[in-house]
Amino acid sequence: MKPKEIRRSSGGLQIIWSDGKLDVVDYARLRLACTCAVCREMPSHPDYRDARFERSRSVHSLDLVGNYAVGIMWADSHRSIFAFDRIKNLPPLTEEKISPEAEVAGGCCGGGCH
Ligand SMILES: [Zn+2]
Repeated sequence: MKPKEIRRSSGGLQIIWSDGKLDVVDYARLRLACTCAVCREMPSHPDYRDARFERSRSVHSLDLVGNYAVGIMWADSHRSIFAFDRIKNLPPLTEEKISPEAEVAGGCCGGGCH
C-alpha cells in the first residue's frame, strides 16, 4: 500500500493511502517507532508524549525516501525513516485506554490482599 498524500497536521501525520483511507499517526508514536541505529540501541525509549520531549515529536521537515518510505527530520535534529508498510502496521498505543476502574479490577486480587 502506498500513500497518495502525506500531510502534517496538528494531531499527527496524515496519510491518505492509495485506497482512499486516511490514517492519522500521532507524532510521539512515530518517534517511538523509530528504528534507526541510535534508537535501536536504546534500552528503553522515553515517553515522547511528555512535555519535555516537545522537540522530539515536532516535525522539522518531511521528505520521501525512494517510493517506499517517508523520512522525518525532527525538531531536535534526529532523523527517522519509516517504510509505508511499517506505518500502516504500527502497534497501537494502549496507555490512554486504561481507566482507573480497570486498573483496580485488574490488580493482584481485586483488593483482598491489602
Ligand atoms: Zn531514531
